[in-house]
Amino acid sequence: QSVQIKNALISVYYKDNLEPIIHELNRLGVKIYTTGGTETFIRSLGVDVIAVEDLTSYPSILGGRVKTLHPKVFGGILARRNFDSDEQQLAQYEIPEIDLVIVDLYPFEETVKSGAGADDVIEKIDIGGISLIRAAAKNFKDVVIVASKDDYGQLENLLTTQAGTTTLDQRRTFAQKAFNISSNYDTAIFQYFNQEEPMPVFKQSIQTSQILRYGENPHQKGVFYGNLDAMFTKLNGKELSYNNLVDVDAAVALIDEFTEPTIAILKHTNACGIASRSFIKEAWMDALACDPVSAFGGVIIANDEINAETATEIDKIFYEVLIAPAYTDEAVKILQGKKNRIILIRQPVELPVKQFKTLLNGVIEQDKDAVIEGPAQMTTATTKQPTEQELKDLFFANKVVKHTKSNTIVFAKNSQLMASGVGQTSRVDSLKQAIVKAESFGFDLKGAVMASDAFFPFPDCAEIAADAGITAILQPGGSIKDQDSINMSNEKGIAMVTTGVRHFKH
Ligand code: 5GP
Repeated sequence: QSVQIKNALISVYYKDNLEPIIHELNRLGVKIYTTGGTETFIRSLGVDVIAVEDLTSYPSILGGRVKTLHPKVFGGILARRNFDSDEQQLAQYEIPEIDLVIVDLYPFEETVKSGAGADDVIEKIDIGGISLIRAAAKNFKDVVIVASKDDYGQLENLLTTQAGTTTLDQRRTFAQKAFNISSNYDTAIFQYFNQEEPMPVFKQSIQTSQILRYGENPHQKGVFYGNLDAMFTKLNGKELSYNNLVDVDAAVALIDEFTEPTIAILKHTNACGIASRSFIKEAWMDALACDPVSAFGGVIIANDEINAETATEIDKIFYEVLIAPAYTDEAVKILQGKKNRIILIRQPVELPVKQFKTLLNGVIEQDKDAVIEGPAQMTTATTKQPTEQELKDLFFANKVVKHTKSNTIVFAKNSQLMASGVGQTSRVDSLKQAIVKAESFGFDLKGAVMASDAFFPFPDCAEIAADAGITAILQPGGSIKDQDSINMSNEKGIAMVTTGVRHFKH
């Protein structure tokens, strides 16, 4: 059903960009009801309006806390059109039907973020505006609700192209958007109140979304849906950003492959350093040694308690996020010296076993890659068998390869990552990148092992790797030309094992 807009109620915080709408409504002969500040603004454009106070015969009171909260306003919004008793009552109480509501709420979140004091923040909890939005959205059958300054443009477009009429579908879409805005607004208020002493009882059920500073880039909005507080206890630093979350997710998945004391450093979801050692400090030193350049600004994750001596070393470099299952008191004191670094205790929480991603006009779902092949699943394809140490390193390298962006090649030796080639469009490029990286950080690849996330279609990788000093290679196998790579390995006198399991990660 098409409805012609005759009366509008406008009460907005941000007046900017409203002007074209006002002129268009004026041109269409729409009567405008409005609140104090908005009234002044519209009059300044030379357009006549009716103050809500004149409609209600009641002033704005309590310094603006009560402006539009009146039956003469809400009656006109909520009345069901063509519904006898509602129409009778409108006539009886002289209430005009309002068929367009434009609201832009007090900027609550922005006020919180600006670091304003508690009184200021509380005053920015919009009461009348949120009620207007809910009322108009509820009555979308007859009323258009524009619930944010972000939608001024859309409304203007509609007014000009449809001469002040709207369809039911359009009004329902506006209502849908309006409830999205009102629910986010209340979530932000709840989060403000829930900061200091979070309510444990309602954590699981209520805190299901968190508005992020922004998405991958500052011009992209971002929200996290889930319960971070259940998973991490924050000891220090600001909120996790969108990119932090993506890296933390990758870090958690990687570290969970390891049982012995291990530290990994990640950049853009890939490990740029990882080592397993008997003691956590050694693990840190050797993880960092892998690529101290990339480690700058990274996400660090440990699977063992961080003690003071490890904290002292970690504290020497700039990192974004540090995650560990525990920290000694002394370690916390050392690490808290740097205000902006995010330090998290990871709580043992079960994680989802499915992964989702939006694409095209839908969503794809898959099981997480939950398998990892140990020495028992490695079949030697070459004459030369890998040594026990090489097998151990292949196992280590295979875990890293599984969590690195495809196409990927990983070099490891003595349970330490030496270098990797990540996310290249050809496997040979990944291999070459890994060789250059390893050499640039002073690693001797002689006796190191190599793992590949997928099979080799040609023997070139085996040849280049062997020439660089690699003595054992792990790959899933399955290429029709597997034998070429095996022959090449035999020719070069190195070992090659196949696992039968590919670990693509795109
Ligand atoms: P104005 O600048 O027009 O005086 O006020 C516009 C703002 O007031 C809008 O952000 C709107 O959401 C809000 N608002 C409208 N009615 C009420 C009310 O009754 N109480 C409160 N607290 N805010 C209201």
